[in-house]
Amino acid sequence: MQHYDLIVIGLGSMGSATSYYASKRGAKVLGLEQFQIPHENGSHTGQSRIIRKAYFEHPNYVPLLQRAYDNWARLEQVVGRQLFYRTGLLYHGTADGVLLKGVRASSEQYHVPLRAYTPEQAQKRFPQFQLDTRFESLLEPDAGFILPEKTISIFYELALKAGATLHCNEAVQTWTRKGDGVEVQTNKASYYAKRLVITAGAWARDLIPALRPNLRVTQQSLFWVKPKDWEAFSLANFPCWNMMLPDDEGLFYGFPILPSNRFDGQIGLKIAYHAPEQLIEPNEARPAIQAKEYTRIQNFAATYMPDALASILASKTCLYTYSDNEDFIIDHLPEQGGVVSIACGFSGHGFKFVPLVGEVLTDLALEGKTDAPIGFLSAKRYLMA
Ligand SMILES: Cc1cc2nc3c(=O)[nH]c(=O)nc-3n(C[C@H](O)[C@H](O)[C@H](O)COP(=O)(O)OP(=O)(O)OC[C@H]3O[C@@H](n4cnc5c(N)ncnc54)[C@H](O)[C@@H]3O)c2cc1C
Repeated sequence: MQHYDLIVIGLGSMGSATSYYASKRGAKVLGLEQFQIPHENGSHTGQSRIIRKAYFEHPNYVPLLQRAYDNWARLEQVVGRQLFYRTGLLYHGTADGVLLKGVRASSEQYHVPLRAYTPEQAQKRFPQFQLDTRFESLLEPDAGFILPEKTISIFYELALKAGATLHCNEAVQTWTRKGDGVEVQTNKASYYAKRLVITAGAWARDLIPALRPNLRVTQQSLFWVKPKDWEAFSLANFPCWNMMLPDDEGLFYGFPILPSNRFDGQIGLKIAYHAPEQLIEPNEARPAIQAKEYTRIQNFAATYMPDALASILASKTCLYTYSDNEDFIIDHLPEQGGVVSIACGFSGHGFKFVPLVGEVLTDLALEGKTDAPIGFLSAKRYLMA
């Protein structure tokens, strides 16, 4: 049986980054991925992800984001290319709604710069939106988008160059504590390592059965549309945006058009909706996008972005893994003597943290602890309650 310092199960967003950071620190790493790297079956497909710091979900995330921002900058230096596009992020919502209240709270506590717009000012500065007087608007200039598939390919390549052994198309079936470490059985072979990291995304419930009751997997849809006025929504003229409607717990969001001479993936203006859609089992056949998901986007655009949607060009699906309270779970797995570390339950907002999570999991696996403030993300809140 082959022996390693660390085995990483799942080489998607978090696992590809962990494989790199751990290899760079000198560990002998084996990474195992059931599909290709990257692929379209998990949580990282869809061309772009929003990155932002005035975190409406909770201010606890801001110190982690400050470190994630540093790591994105360092990663850009290492690979010599831009990965974070600072288009700014425009928030539209009601003054007392979850979105604007949360953005303001994180901004005030951690001094994240914001610009405020009245409805009249917002209408003039961002004529792509049609807002009524219920809405206020905030712009976070130091926010924008990152590229999920490109980032994973980069971490994959960097990890290989740093000495990691990474296997695609090899599915882990079981892991078992053995001696001071762990034995991992795949559909091809058995391996032994001193430490194990599980970054299995929507499949985490299969590998960490104790967390199954606390993790729900949903299939989310993404749409690329042809706007009536292409230029108005181009990368040069349009920011990323979030909009929360009164009496709706979900969040509409979108990106500028990414030109095909600079970016891979779909053509057109990307618009989507963030709220739990269809519950699924990741190993079963995936359902089609429901008619109501199309009409929701069409109705939203017709009312609030009347020049945005002439026709739908493409759609894709991607998986969220919700934890009970939508906070991530990043910790040692309890009662495993610090041998097994996990990161899951990213609840549809994890990608911006990838270079930070990779480093934190490396800390947990190789040092037994991290100085990143992740106490609020502990696994004990579910497993030892
Ligand atoms: C539609 C959509 C929009 C999003 N928008 C944003 C956004 O704007 N901003 C943001 O920050 N985040 C966003 N996210 C969330 C972010 O993309 C996810 O939180 C992140 O990709 C989760 O990473 P992961 O490593 O947990 O999962 P994945 O990237 O899916 O990686 C898990 C990997 O584990 C592998 N695996 C699982 N089981 C096994 C096994 N037994 N053996 C071998 N390999 C295995 C899988 O094949 C997969 O490759 C969005 C997600 C979706 C779906």
